Amino acid sequence: MTTKTTLTFESGVGTATGANFLLESEAGKNLIDCGLVQGSQFAEEINKDDFPYDASSIKNLFVTHAHADHIGRIPKLVRAGFRGTIYSTPATKHLAAVMLSDILVQIRREAGSQKVEPIFNNEDIDKALELWKEIPYHEPTTIGDFVVTLRDAGHILGSTMFEFVKNGKKIVFTGDLGNSPTPLLPDTETITDADYMVMESVYGDRNHEPKSERREKLKRVINDTIKRGGTIVIPAFSLERTQVILYELNNLIENKEIQSIPVFLDSPLAIKVTSVYKSFSASFNKAVQQEQSEGDNIFEFPGLKFVRTTEESRGIVRHAGSKIIIAGSGMSTGGRVIHHEREFLNDPQSTILIVGYQVAGSLGRELQDGAKSVQIEGKDISVKAKIETILGYSSHKDSDHLIEFVGNTAKTLKCVWVAMGEPKSSLFLTQRLRDYLGVNAVYPKVGETVVLDM
Ligand SMILES: [Zn+2]
Repeated sequence: MTTKTTLTFESGVGTATGANFLLESEAGKNLIDCGLVQGSQFAEEINKDDFPYDASSIKNLFVTHAHADHIGRIPKLVRAGFRGTIYSTPATKHLAAVMLSDILVQIRREAGSQKVEPIFNNEDIDKALELWKEIPYHEPTTIGDFVVTLRDAGHILGSTMFEFVKNGKKIVFTGDLGNSPTPLLPDTETITDADYMVMESVYGDRNHEPKSERREKLKRVINDTIKRGGTIVIPAFSLERTQVILYELNNLIENKEIQSIPVFLDSPLAIKVTSVYKSFSASFNKAVQQEQSEGDNIFEFPGLKFVRTTEESRGIVRHAGSKIIIAGSGMSTGGRVIHHEREFLNDPQSTILIVGYQVAGSLGRELQDGAKSVQIEGKDISVKAKIETILGYSSHKDSDHLIEFVGNTAKTLKCVWVAMGEPKSSLFLTQRLRDYLGVNAVYPKVGETVVLDM
């Protein structure tokens, strides 16, 4: 007998951020993700709005992974009265503990001198972590009237898709899908038997540069800069991208493909995240497991220095000769990387190496677009350093691979909702899914509720 099951797109459609979906059945209300809406600000004003549902009526919250746009409003949900259970992989819980504290710091920084109350505080974070339970991948668990199974999404450490099965029907929430194969993580698992799917579409309208070229390009950029005697500044996101770059440097240095020069990881957040990665080293892909079993500690190599204090950070410039500085933020919108860019942007020997997506309006995007001069903290700085971009390290599937992923379950799929992307990207992917696979692909509206046959 089928009872009524509904799905509501509370937010996270028509935007790549703010993931928040409500799956409701007779046994109660479940949320999938509860992320921050992010745009030109780290946290947009809209995050202050009340939730469109009564937070105390939510029984369970399922968290796909520890990025701010998937976890950033969880403490606010707790503050609004949520007392249910939060479920994620063990790694996601550990990463979320680190990330949520940083999210609060960022929100406070944006509030600045205005005496505005942040949307949550440290107590709310602690309460959220108390409500948090870990479920490993691949262990079917009965929660309410669903059997829930986690499948590796291959996006960042701990990232999962959630499969909910009821009355023999399956709905899958993809969260973000990894750009497999990636240097560190296992590949995204294949889904072949979904009836319904809610999927991401960050790169729904674009393909990445080939992955085979990323490591060679990294090597070339570093070697060219060393030849000129310059410094390589890498603005990097603290979660996943930094660890991937460290892993690549570890191999390039140990294989003597680049000279052993000092590598400064200048980000307290990235250092904390890296230590979580170290403690979950059994979760990496087979190739990395093999290297580890041969005794290679992939986050330790000659020349690597962890820079914790601001004083140490400011001292880096005094290290003569070539060096690599990895610092946040990933789009050069703030953080310690700004000081290094101020130092090295007008040095023709040096390189700013961009390894991630740069949003329009960010300093990183200006540099990527070839600006001859930029403003940093009110000062005009002429850009003489080389600006290089490697986009092969993206942690999202591109358009062709999103199609391929859905294609594996095209036969059983009754409907796929295309979410978590900018409108242009989601609409393009929706059309491609219809044209290439003949599946019922839908671009949902914010707040729309659909009834599922399960
Ligand atoms: Zn993500």
